[in-house]
Amino acid sequence: MNGVSILGATGSIGMSTLDVLQRHPDRYRVVGLSANTEVERLAEQCRAHHPQYAVMADELAAQRLRERLRKIDSHIEVLAGLEGLETIAAHPQADSVMAAIVGAAGLVPALAAVRAGKRILLANKEALVMSGQIFMDEVREHKAELLPVDSEHNAILQCLPLLSGKSLGEIGVNRILLTASGGPFRTTSLEALHGVTPAQACAHPNWDMGRKISVDSATMMNKGLEVIEACWLFAAPPESIQVVIHPQSIIHSMVEYVDGSILAQMGSPDMRTPIAYALAWPERIASGVKRLNLFEVAQLNFAAPDMERFPCLRLAYEALARGGTATTVLSAANEVAVQAFLEEKLSFTAIAEIVEATLNKIPSKTATSLNVILDEDVRARQWAQELIAHKAV
Ligand code: NAD
Ligand code: MG
Repeated sequence: MNGVSILGATGSIGMSTLDVLQRHPDRYRVVGLSANTEVERLAEQCRAHHPQYAVMADELAAQRLRERLRKIDSHIEVLAGLEGLETIAAHPQADSVMAAIVGAAGLVPALAAVRAGKRILLANKEALVMSGQIFMDEVREHKAELLPVDSEHNAILQCLPLLSGKSLGEIGVNRILLTASGGPFRTTSLEALHGVTPAQACAHPNWDMGRKISVDSATMMNKGLEVIEACWLFAAPPESIQVVIHPQSIIHSMVEYVDGSILAQMGSPDMRTPIAYALAWPERIASGVKRLNLFEVAQLNFAAPDMERFPCLRLAYEALARGGTATTVLSAANEVAVQAFLEEKLSFTAIAEIVEATLNKIPSKTATSLNVILDEDVRARQWAQELIAHKAV
């Protein structure tokens, strides 16, 4: 039996993970589940999946969950806060940890799992974008296993030879082709982009996801974060990653080899496939995903990304080129700007402006420790808040 903890169990990725796990009761057991504030949903999940631990973000919410669980006579231990998250991430009975908290809040708990030498199923790309080198160094030092859940990175993993331990160049890889749907505004007129609403931005044509990543997909900051994520995961230089717009989201990414072969991973756009692959790797298990009907798909289209329409993608490449803590600042400023957009305090097109202005305010530093990263994260958030408050962009 494989013990699994899920950080961010009540979110889109968390729920898809539980859906895959419950298809394999002979193989997986749930050790810990966590949520931010969604007491009712976590109580429901506890009733269905019987974890040993349930963690809420604060003591008040934890108390409410304890009361709810008392009614169903459960023996689940309810914990609170970062300490609770670290407990389920590093628990001896948890062999695998799904890191599915959104944003910077997921970094420290994901690192707790890394330091305990777990298999980390990484959905929380912001953690890696913020802390790149430090995160990867910790993975090596503690012999943790890092498996990407992000569909593109999972696809790339599927297109690479198993366990080669060699560099991309040594195994004959020329380029990584990172596909992107282009989101809901791929063809919207540039003048209309300014006035788009959170509801329009969150209505992704192919994927059903949390609100933050949905907005990131609409600005294509998501693809920018994914380029950075791919550089760290596969030790790939930025110039070896080509973003390819592919509106159908059927090919989840590709790897081009020196002999001219391009391997692609295809499937229905459903996160249960990459989740199942990361859970069972190197084996394969059923995921419940609808089979792809190629006759229904009929066409696959490709185009180059438009940097004028999607300035966030350009900003991500620029932050990557600056190096050090620039990607920490990029991710933090973006989180703040997206939140302000979702609260209707900022226009859609101003998200990129806030990120760019914050990057220009804060010079990049060498990321020598986790504390440097956490400090820069706070600093970037403060600057972004200030810029939004004064609309000084
Ligand atoms: P979501 O908003 O649906 O869920 C987020 C989860 O994190 C929830 O369980 C929430 O309770 C928890 N959470 C939020 N803030 C927290 C905090 N401050 N402290 C503790 N817990 C907190 O998000 P999602 O769509 O499931 O995405 C999760 C992560 O996975 C993101 O980093 C996203 O980029 C990545 N991802 C998601 C998808 C997808 O299809 N949804 C695909 C690829 C990658
Ligand atoms: Mg993705």
